[in-house]
Amino acid sequence: MQLVCMDLEGVLVPEIWIAFAEKTGIEALKKTTRDVPDYDELMQYRLGILSEHGLKLPDIQSVIDSLHPLEGAYEFLLELRSRTQVIILSDTFEQFAKPLMRSLDWPTLFCNTLKVDSDGAISGYTLRQKDGKRKAVLNLKATGFEVIASGDSYNDLSMLEEADHGVLFRPPESIVLERPEFPVVQNYDEMMREFLRFLD
Ligand SMILES: [Mg+2]
Repeated sequence: MQLVCMDLEGVLVPEIWIAFAEKTGIEALKKTTRDVPDYDELMQYRLGILSEHGLKLPDIQSVIDSLHPLEGAYEFLLELRSRTQVIILSDTFEQFAKPLMRSLDWPTLFCNTLKVDSDGAISGYTLRQKDGKRKAVLNLKATGFEVIASGDSYNDLSMLEEADHGVLFRPPESIVLERPEFPVVQNYDEMMREFLRFLD
């Protein structure tokens, strides 16, 4: 029995923080998990910038409302879900994810939670569990699944390592050089072909 675990941002939908950086013109918010391997360091940096500029959760949510899946992502996911079970493993937050999940027809999502003050200011975040992507794969394997995983960034590498088959989708050059063991795909047709090698 097989199951596919997929990253969200950069694979199925645009990077939320980059979209928000473009909307607000705050260049410093363009750093993502593709640039900064340490997720907590990246989040603390982002939350510092938000507070500096007085930006709150509704400001980010209004940008997310205007986002659409990457071109071809909706059709790809629909086709994949007709062939096997799919779980989205994301380091995003439930307060961000809802409109994006609606635009992808409500796939299953495991993600994290923001801590939000009564005035909408983001004061921190709670991880569902540390190294949650890897542990989700580990536990799915323990329940009898053969896991195929795909992601694009540093925060996906432990998930790809733990999976039976890991695939990189449009990763930055640095990851391609550092992790030559993972196959690299550049579009959804290539990703489906790669997945089909392992799917019954
Ligand atoms: Mg990503």
